Amino acid sequence: MLKRRILIRVILSFLITFFPTAFLIHFVFQRIGEEALIKERDILYNNFKTLLKHKESDLELAKSKIIQSKDDYYIWLRVDEECGGIAHYRITDRGLYYGKKIFLGEQCYFLGINFKELLEFIKELSHAEWLFYYDRTYIDRFPQEFLDIFVKDKLFKNDVVIAGFSDESVLNVPFKVSGYLVYGSGFKKSLLVEFPLFEENGYQFGQVLLVKDISPIYANFYTLMGVLVAYSFVLSLLSSFLLYKFSGDLIARIIKLQEFSNRIKMGDFSKIEPFETSKKMDELDHLRNSFIDAAITIGNLLSELEAKNKQLQELAYYDSLTGLPNRRFFFEHANLIFEEAKRYGKKLSLLIIDIDHFKKINDAYGHDAGDIVLKVFADVLKGVVRQSDICARMGGEEFAVLLPNTGLDEARVLAERIRSAVASRPVEYDHKVILVTTSIGVSEFRSGMESIDDLIKEADIALYRAKEGGRNRVEVFTPDKTGESQT
Ligand code: GH3
Ligand code: MG
Ligand code: MG
Repeated sequence: MLKRRILIRVILSFLITFFPTAFLIHFVFQRIGEEALIKERDILYNNFKTLLKHKESDLELAKSKIIQSKDDYYIWLRVDEECGGIAHYRITDRGLYYGKKIFLGEQCYFLGINFKELLEFIKELSHAEWLFYYDRTYIDRFPQEFLDIFVKDKLFKNDVVIAGFSDESVLNVPFKVSGYLVYGSGFKKSLLVEFPLFEENGYQFGQVLLVKDISPIYANFYTLMGVLVAYSFVLSLLSSFLLYKFSGDLIARIIKLQEFSNRIKMGDFSKIEPFETSKKMDELDHLRNSFIDAAITIGNLLSELEAKNKQLQELAYYDSLTGLPNRRFFFEHANLIFEEAKRYGKKLSLLIIDIDHFKKINDAYGHDAGDIVLKVFADVLKGVVRQSDICARMGGEEFAVLLPNTGLDEARVLAERIRSAVASRPVEYDHKVILVTTSIGVSEFRSGMESIDDLIKEADIALYRAKEGGRNRVEVFTPDKTGESQT
């Protein structure tokens, strides 16, 4: 359960680490890519502009030399127009020319440079393919003979006439680009930069497109980006994996603590041992230690409680001086035994034993001596009675012995045995010898008796007689007579 939750959190932490990083890398490279693109565009643009400027000054040179150079490179046409004005493009039957209107003598001439040649410069300079195209409707204005000469080597496509391509694939690029755009798919990308072709009066009749292969730039960026994303992926995965591995130890220890607390909950303190480790302790070990300490304390308290309970129980049922059962014990058992005798007509007898002149013993030898006499008497009694007999100290120096399944005669024999055993067992105390005797009253269960009290009453009567009769005697209660004495 805990393990699964931690695994889910580790996976989440991986996702949270990896995806934003990948996104950031992608974003940064997109920005860098855009910058690189704009830089490329500017280079193309500036090269083109510089070239035009440069060639304009070339025209001045041509004018001074009055055109003797390469046939196709320069053109000069006499025009019936106003001279002057800005540099512009002009279509002639020899192709497209870029130039100015200049006075030569009294006449105005258009002095131009072959634009195709100019673009060849660009091709050298910027490694850019080129093409240009004209608006078909504009071309159609020219007379047929002119067009026949003009359109040779040129391509018609839709509404445009295309010229000047040196690489056929350039023909696939979109027309009507305004400004610049990136064209292509995947790694194969081209940058298209557009230059409008203007007549002198400002009419745009076509466009020049410089097409530069920028695949290497893209390939570079994509490769770098891929490497970085893969790196961040591996890094996130590795850190998540390590996190999971390290938490494994934690989980194992927490599970142990859990088992431990379950055992305590079940009250099982049996296998709790003090925690020992040579390793440096952390908070979890401290927690376990205090857990163990608490459990050991509880365990100790419980066994103490158990011992105390036992002691309390013994105190409640046993006499602490003689170790014999007490009055309470006697009555709880005697009542049950009496009920059984009553119900099944079983035999049952009772002896009440009283130490003779005990007060005198106390007075003569001290209370401690009296206690010892009581203990010795109890030992003698224990030695004589049977296991099944209920022997109890009823209070002071008075004792009772309940004899189940025993008739009066047998009871009397036992009483006599007790009496003589006590009498022949002097107690030594403080180098003095104390002679102890007892008087015993015996009674037997008879039908008609209601409770153990009846039996005790009759034994007491017999005991009284024994005392009356001179002590150190056994007397048996007989209902018909006042008593029968026996020595
Ligand atoms: P009798 O022969 O008629 O029974 O005379 P007695 O002196 O034995 O009877 P009595 O009931 O007058 O005296 C009992 C004495 O037992 C009184 C009391 O101080 C003493 N006694 C009772 N319990 C203890 C005890 O636990 N230890 C000691 N040392 N004396 C006790
Ligand atoms: Mg007494
Ligand atoms: Mg007495």
